[in-house]
Amino acid sequence: MTRVPCLFAFVLTLASPAAAQPNDPRLDRLKAEAGRAIDANARLAQQMVDQVFSFGELGMQEVETSKYLTAILEKNGFTVERGVAGIPTAWLARWGSGKPVIALGSDIDAIPQANQKPGVAAREWLVPGAPGHGEGHNSGVPLNILAALAVKDLIAREKLSGTILLWPGVAEEQLGSKAYLVRAGVFRDVDANLFAHVSDEFGISWGDEPALTLISALFKFKGQSAHAAGAPWRGKSALDAVLNMANAWEYHREHMELAQRSHYVITDGGDQPNVVPSTAAIWFYFRERDVERVTRMFEDAKQIARGAAAATFTTLDSVQVIGSAWRPHFNKPIATALHDNAVKVGMPAWDDKDQTMAKAVQRMMGQPDSGLRTSVPPLRSPEEAAAASSGTGSDDIGDVTWTVPSVTLYYPANIPGTPGHNWADAIAMATPIAHKGVIAGAKVQAMTLLDLLLRPELLSAAREYFTNVQTRTIKYHPLMAPTDQPAIWLNAEKMARYREPMRKFYYDPAKYGSYLEQFGIKYPVVP
Ligand SMILES: [Zn+2]
Repeated sequence: MTRVPCLFAFVLTLASPAAAQPNDPRLDRLKAEAGRAIDANARLAQQMVDQVFSFGELGMQEVETSKYLTAILEKNGFTVERGVAGIPTAWLARWGSGKPVIALGSDIDAIPQANQKPGVAAREWLVPGAPGHGEGHNSGVPLNILAALAVKDLIAREKLSGTILLWPGVAEEQLGSKAYLVRAGVFRDVDANLFAHVSDEFGISWGDEPALTLISALFKFKGQSAHAAGAPWRGKSALDAVLNMANAWEYHREHMELAQRSHYVITDGGDQPNVVPSTAAIWFYFRERDVERVTRMFEDAKQIARGAAAATFTTLDSVQVIGSAWRPHFNKPIATALHDNAVKVGMPAWDDKDQTMAKAVQRMMGQPDSGLRTSVPPLRSPEEAAAASSGTGSDDIGDVTWTVPSVTLYYPANIPGTPGHNWADAIAMATPIAHKGVIAGAKVQAMTLLDLLLRPELLSAAREYFTNVQTRTIKYHPLMAPTDQPAIWLNAEKMARYREPMRKFYYDPAKYGSYLEQFGIKYPVVP
C-alpha cells in the first residue's frame, strides 16, 4: 500500500470536524437531566468525599477506600471485579452492555504526613504523623460515581447501547499501578477513557501534558556487618554504597540536560550506628521529557550504582522498578467536548465562607489572597497548558493515554496557591469547596459520557486522532520489564502504624451531616 491515500484520508478527516454533524435530538435534554440528577445527589457527594477523606490511605493500602467505593457501586447494580492486575486494592466496576465502552478513572491514594483537620486554616493534625488527602485524591472516584449513576439511569430508560467501566488509580503517588492495569488488558475493549483529577480550576488541554516521563526504582545494596568500633575493618557498609551513589549522582547532575528532575530518599540506612549496615537501600525518581531520555537516565543510574558498590567493596543486590509513567497525551476531540461541557456547567457557586476559607489558606501559605477562581479558562493547546502549569510532575495516567483515547478533567475542588503534596492541600478537601467542585465536575463528566454515547462521530474522531496523529510515529511500550510486578508491599508498615489511631476519626454519616460537623468545626475557622 502506498502512503498517499492514507495521508489523504487523514487530511479529509481532520477537515471535517466532529461538531459539523447534527446531534441526536435527545442530547441536550439528557445532559440537563443528568445535571439535575447529580444536584439531587448532593448528600451522597458530600458523604463519599468526606468518607474517603477520613480513610486517608497510602498507595497500595487503599483497603477501606476500595471496600467502601465498590460497595456503593455494587449496591447500584455494577459488577465488581477485585484484585485486578495482581493489585489487592485495584478493581473494575462495570455496568451496561455492548459498545461503546467508556472508562471513568481517578486516583484514590493519600500523602504521607498530610493528615489534617478540614476547614481550619492552621496546621492541626487529627493523628500526628499520619497520612492524609494532601492531594485531594478523595474526590475523584466520588465524582465519577455521581456521573455514572446519573448516566446509567438515562441509558436504561432510553435503551441506549453502552458500557460504563469505573476504575481506581491505585498508588498514583508512586506511579505504581496504571502501567500494570494496561499490561493486564483492562483497557483492551475500552473506546475512550475519561480521567478526573482534582485542581483549583477546570483545566482542560489536548496533546502532550506539561508533565515528565518517569521511572522510579529502588536500589538495594549488600555489605557485611561488624562491630563498628571493635572491628570496623571486618565490615563492609551498604550505607556507604548508598551515600556514594547519591553523591556520584549529584556530580553527574551537573552534566544532565536542564529539563531532568531526579530525587531520592534513603529507605534503609542500617539499624544503629554501632553495627556496620549490612543492607541499605535508596529510592530514586527519574524524570525526563520522553521515554528515550528517561531510559538513558535509568541506565546511567545503574552504572553509578555498580560503581558505588565497587568503591565500597559491597554488592548491588537488586534494582527494582517501583513505578513508571509515560508523559500523558490528551485526545483533542474528546478534550474539546469536555471543555464545551465545562463551559456549559460553569464554576461552582462559591459563597463568602468558601472565599474566606480560601483567602485565609492563601495568606497562611504566603501567597496572594486571590480566593477561589470564578471562571472557566479556554481549552488549552500543549503550549498554553505548559504556560499555565506551575511545575512538572508525572502521572501514570500517561500509560493509559497511550493505550486508549483519553483526557484528564481537572476540576475545581481545591484552593489555588497551595504547594501540592502538603497538609495545606487537605484543608479544603472535606469542606463545601470540595463538595461543590465534585458536583460541578461530575456534571461535566456525565455530559461528556453522554456525548460519547450519543455522538458516534465524536468517538470516530477520537479514534482518528489517536491512530493518525498521537500514535502515528510513537508506539507505546511499558517502561517496566516483563518480570517487574506491582510493588504491593509499598506503605504496608506505615499504614499498619496509623490505621488504628485513624480509625477513631473515620467519618460517621449516620451521626453527622458532614465531617466538619463530626469535629464541631464552624466552617471556616480562620485565625
Ligand atoms: Zn494526583
